[in-house]
Amino acid sequence: MTNETSKTETRSFEADVSRLLHMMVHSVYSDRDVFLRELISNAADACEKLRYEAIARPELLGDDPRPRIVVSADPEAKRLSVEDNGIGMNGDEMAEALGTIARSGTRAFMERIEAAKGGKARGSEAKGSGEGAEFVGQFGVGFYSAFMVADRVDVISRPAGGAEAWRWSSDGKGEYEIGAVSPGEAPARGTRVVLHLMDDAASYTEPYRLERLVRAQSGHVPVPITLVEKPGAEPREITDGKALWTRPKSGIAPEEYTDFYRSVAGQYDEPALTIHFHAEGRQEYNALVFVPGSRPFDLFDQDRAGRVKLYVKRVFITDEAELLPRYLRFVRGVVDSADLPLNVSREMIQESPLLAAIRKGVTSRVLADLEKLAGNDAEAYGKIWDNFGVVLKEGLYEDYERREQLLKLARFASTASGEGRRSLADYVAALKEGQKAIFFIAGDDRARLEASPQLEGFRARGLEVLLLTDPVDAFWVMNAPEFEGKPFRSVTQGSADLSDIPLAGDAKPEEPVGTEIGDFLAFVKATLGDALSDVKASDRLTESAVCLVAPEHGPDRQFERLLSAAGRLEKAAKPVLEVNPRHPRIAALAKLDPEKRELREDAAHLLYDEARVLDGDKPADAKAFSARLARLIDRVLEGA
Ligand code: ADP
Ligand code: MG
Repeated sequence: MTNETSKTETRSFEADVSRLLHMMVHSVYSDRDVFLRELISNAADACEKLRYEAIARPELLGDDPRPRIVVSADPEAKRLSVEDNGIGMNGDEMAEALGTIARSGTRAFMERIEAAKGGKARGSEAKGSGEGAEFVGQFGVGFYSAFMVADRVDVISRPAGGAEAWRWSSDGKGEYEIGAVSPGEAPARGTRVVLHLMDDAASYTEPYRLERLVRAQSGHVPVPITLVEKPGAEPREITDGKALWTRPKSGIAPEEYTDFYRSVAGQYDEPALTIHFHAEGRQEYNALVFVPGSRPFDLFDQDRAGRVKLYVKRVFITDEAELLPRYLRFVRGVVDSADLPLNVSREMIQESPLLAAIRKGVTSRVLADLEKLAGNDAEAYGKIWDNFGVVLKEGLYEDYERREQLLKLARFASTASGEGRRSLADYVAALKEGQKAIFFIAGDDRARLEASPQLEGFRARGLEVLLLTDPVDAFWVMNAPEFEGKPFRSVTQGSADLSDIPLAGDAKPEEPVGTEIGDFLAFVKATLGDALSDVKASDRLTESAVCLVAPEHGPDRQFERLLSAAGRLEKAAKPVLEVNPRHPRIAALAKLDPEKRELREDAAHLLYDEARVLDGDKPADAKAFSARLARLIDRVLEGA
């Protein structure tokens, strides 16, 4: 159908476009704001394309060389327009670009929606009355998202270097009109998209809302954005078009980094580490990321994967792409890829090999810079470790490939650290003669750990023991990794094997033990029966009489407790009671007349309960315990 006077034609949208538009309009949107981001992003693209074309044909720029995006509101008419002085489109180009879906991103998006409708996709994407509504809310699908807020959209465009102009117009219901317009109605160069807003979207003309939206979504778009609040109002530049991360490092002042950090991270402190680099080669991207100076409030929020924003060619895409592994979720900032396609759904991004390569590169760089800082400024690194060490340690069991590197970054309190922290390199450098393992003790309270009887034999030999007090320690250390060929070994598990390691300094050599000890241990074992897996003479005790340790195989006792608290323990292993044969009380008990059966039995039970209490547990049977204790006191009183 042709209109003679204006040569305007009415055409139908390609079927896919109609489906997409239908879905947009009939979905319940969680976030319609994205339409503005999409239109500004297109305007910026148009400016970038012109910028590129003008390299070969500078005359295209004419007397207007500065790229510009102008957002104009007309609250009374409920109109909003986004205008650029970019490359522009002629009539055919409009029909092609705005009437079909040629782009892979949108096509994939459509397929995703179809899958969601067919129930193939995961629940969260298909839920709600709108088909794939969450998708749209999160990603937008380019130009067509304008129909989420407008019941009519006009696009008036004049290509760079051209004299004629065209107008495209549609209500998004299956057809659009296209035709020539008089040059006076069109921008001198480029495209004006005019949105006739729906009533419930009229508030998009509020200047404050517009400004906030533009800054938040498009604040780093590479073209300055100007706002005209109402017809006739003075244009006001609200973003300057300079993306900090694309500027050379040497020209950026520390305050600029700090400002940017605060806006991108939502923090009010100074960054502890600023990492800014440009990657080239297989993947081209800029990264500007920060380690915060203090813990962000949502550090342990399980739903919050990361806070590194993904940009593609300076256009914000998402802050939900997992650009870094979970154990680096405290890192905040921006990654700007030159190679990823714009307008790609989050799932697509997540699965993209391009993104995988970027993730790898940024992760390596962050870890390398942390390592560098640890070497150059131990104090600054120590602060980072204090804030984020617990999170970094998650990497020790989540990222097997980088475990070695993460182990190097790890810092620990130990029996030799005092107030400071020890690295594993420090630990290994201080290994004692005959020492074949890295010893650790785990628990939730450092003071308690340091007072543990299990440490006595290690202390007597000058052996350093790491004090692991974070619950996360259980998970990595249980996977029995090693560092520089030395396995990690719990001092509360299995036999201590300390006999090969000489006692430190002027400690007296151990005296041989009398034979009656063996009989006594057998008696204790028989008495306690099922509660224990074994009763053994200990070489890890020097002062205390007894302690409990875990059997050789199976988890450390502290970890067993954690697992059991988390409901992940099927059956606790029975502990081993270690008895110090050189302890005077044990020696005396061993020599006790076997006829004094009741006293010997009470002693056996009380030794076990003593070991339990030392371990932070309760006596095995509170009532029996108090009866035994009472008998013992009575005995002493009788003799007194
Ligand atoms: P995308 O930006 O991913 O290509 P859109 O749906 O946002 O997808 O836009 C579709 C196409 O419309 C663009 O590729 C471009 O060719 C054209 N287009 C949209 N807006 C403009 C504009 N302001 N100037 C020039 N071309 C535009
Ligand atoms: Mg676009």
